[in-house]
Amino acid sequence: MDFYLLAFLLIILSGSIIVYIYYLKEKKEELASIQRGFCPKCHKDSIELVDQRSTGCSGPKLLSYECPECSYYNSFAVESGGGCGTGKCSL
Ligand SMILES: [Zn+2]
Repeated sequence: MDFYLLAFLLIILSGSIIVYIYYLKEKKEELASIQRGFCPKCHKDSIELVDQRSTGCSGPKLLSYECPECSYYNSFAVESGGGCGTGKCSL
């Protein structure tokens, strides 16, 4: 067992987890801003939903937003309300 390699891997792993959590937090804040109708970058109310696709019955929806003012673009995976439990998608 190479201890240094293991320690190195642990540092990389915990580092990427922190980055991922930070990324999720930032993304959540951006989505909250968008859902109020404001662009998270330039804070104008010009944000537009440009694409919307569902990954399946119970899967999250992928929403893409774009701001024509500052060319901000981002897509969010949003848990779709409803789903199979509501009987909306009977196969
Ligand atoms: Zn903008």
